[in-house]
Amino acid sequence: MRLILLGPPGAGKGTQAVRLVNHFGIPQISTGDILRKAVKDGTELGTLAKGYMDRGELVPDEVVVGIIRERIAEPDCERGYILDGFPRTIAQAEALDEMLKKLKGGIDHVVNIAVGDEEIIKRLTGRRTCSSCGAGYHILFDPPKKEGVCDKCGGKLIQRDDDQEETIRARLRVYRQQTEPLIAYYKRKGLLRTIPGVGNMEEIFEAILKAVEEPDKADK
Ligand code: AMP
Repeated sequence: MRLILLGPPGAGKGTQAVRLVNHFGIPQISTGDILRKAVKDGTELGTLAKGYMDRGELVPDEVVVGIIRERIAEPDCERGYILDGFPRTIAQAEALDEMLKKLKGGIDHVVNIAVGDEEIIKRLTGRRTCSSCGAGYHILFDPPKKEGVCDKCGGKLIQRDDDQEETIRARLRVYRQQTEPLIAYYKRKGLLRTIPGVGNMEEIFEAILKAVEEPDKADK
């Protein structure tokens, strides 16, 4: 199964993708995670991407399309994958369609997780990640037992550079302008199902599973 998770930054795509990985046994492909690792490792890709990411802008299409082209050719993607944070522009979606046509497959489902701007700002400004094991926390909704310290491994909790309010607003503007048109793109293809991204994580997960199980109920 090839599934795209669509939705603004902070909609919970990453969190839900991890659950879907466990449920379906297929990998998550997050271009954001791949780029952040490249920045951390100081690779050529990371050096190129860092400026865009710090400003909340999109990394050029040809760069992320290249990342995806290589990643989906790996053996663990044979049975499918969950795309989280890709595509983010119409050009990326078209490039993906072309790639998949050559591989004689296509996208099976696109789940759009809808969340309003103010809720997103509240969520992202409070988001923290363990610098050591990558576990996620939220200072209001899911705080660690000891402030700034990971419950699981004792690592230091850090805030993503692009989770500052000003950068979040820039990312939201970019989302509305460049990524939101994908909703109509996939709706036209009959692949889109929109679910509300509010409520607890379990409810949202159930809604995603339902969307995948009932392709005939796609958004009209
Ligand atoms: P994310 O973790 O998905 O919120 O992505 C973090 C940042 O990585 C974004 O703000 C962009 O700068 C960059 N990025 C991630 N995925 C893409 C993509 N598909 N196209 C362009 N830039 C991306």
